[in-house]
Amino acid sequence: MTIQELDNQYIAHTYARFPVQLVSGNGSLVYDESGKEYIDLGTGIAVNGFGVNDEAWKEAVIAQLDKIQHTSNLYYSAPCAKLAEALCVRTGMKKVFFSNSGAEANECAIKAARKYGELKKGKDYYTIVTLKNSFHGRTITTLSATGQDVFHEHFTPMTEGFVFAAANDIAEAEALVKAHKCCGVMIELVQGEGGVTALDKEYVQRLEALARKEDLLFIVDEVQTGNGRTGTLYAYMDYGVTPDVVTTAKGLGGGLPIGATMLGERAENLFTAGLNGSTFGGNPVCAAGALSILERIDDALLEEVKKKSAYIFGELTGATGVKGVSGKGLMIGVECEKDASAVIAACREKGVLVIKAKNKVRLLPALNIPWEQLQKSIKIVKEACK
Ligand SMILES: *Cc1c(COP(=O)(O)O)cnc(C)c1O
Repeated sequence: MTIQELDNQYIAHTYARFPVQLVSGNGSLVYDESGKEYIDLGTGIAVNGFGVNDEAWKEAVIAQLDKIQHTSNLYYSAPCAKLAEALCVRTGMKKVFFSNSGAEANECAIKAARKYGELKKGKDYYTIVTLKNSFHGRTITTLSATGQDVFHEHFTPMTEGFVFAAANDIAEAEALVKAHKCCGVMIELVQGEGGVTALDKEYVQRLEALARKEDLLFIVDEVQTGNGRTGTLYAYMDYGVTPDVVTTAKGLGGGLPIGATMLGERAENLFTAGLNGSTFGGNPVCAAGALSILERIDDALLEEVKKKSAYIFGELTGATGVKGVSGKGLMIGVECEKDASAVIAACREKGVLVIKAKNKVRLLPALNIPWEQLQKSIKIVKEACK
């Protein structure tokens, strides 16, 4: 059987895969089994921030593999402690809980908010305000937090305690906080799966003020926006707010699974021994790789991200067949006159991998994509939109 046949026969049909099998790569160039080269503008859904096969990341991962590959959280481990330190130093957050995915990082944030509500106001203050059109993960509880009905179908009853406000509508958020016994507010600053739309700065600041006034944990889900993706180390840094909890995953591990829930001053002491845990969380190999990624997301790289972002917006805004360009940094949604799937297929045909978000073509290039590859690929995207 071919790999596609094997996959169809033996893997649960939860994914509508593109008809491509990727086998190798280097930076932003990836190759399928026939040797066809693609410029990758999808980076495994904002995961491979430095592309594939990145030398420095591999070195860090291999060095750790040569020592010990897993210890469990029953023991101290250097990569995990050093990564937590680096995250706290770079963000001003106080403590980190490590897990293996974005959904788990958000589960931890939700637990933190519920514990906070109980501590501050009482056990029945467990409701969290999230946004319509959001995406927070695939576990039952993070699906419950996701403000899109389509994700709730078939899986009811959902976890209770989530109410949804329209993005950028502060009055609706205020009304929900008034009507429910709340413990937190959780948002993505750029809704990714929801269609790559950035929240307004003023709205986010008012939401933070609402959280402060009502003593709610202000949680920012940076699973996709984090780790340099939007032009700052974390997206909140460009919004002039200080979250109580920041979750991240995707880009942090450079391709290995790791989730992080960063806890600020109000949240740092909510967890005590036994209140959360993970067998794999903070795995030393993943943590060593993540540390190498984090160290290289510096000001110079972030400047480049902003320049490349401006270039893409400049090229695609107003281009023939393009209705609009949304997002922030290198997290970009392109609304086309043509069906997004047709544009994606045309790009793939011409050797450029892009992905979808709702009805948009989504671009998530590597943060360090070389200029020539970026220019070449954007030209192809532009052509495909016509
Ligand atoms: C991808 C994503 C998640 C879920 O992450 P997983 O690692 O797939 O569990 C949660 N929140 C946001 C904003 C995401 O983009």
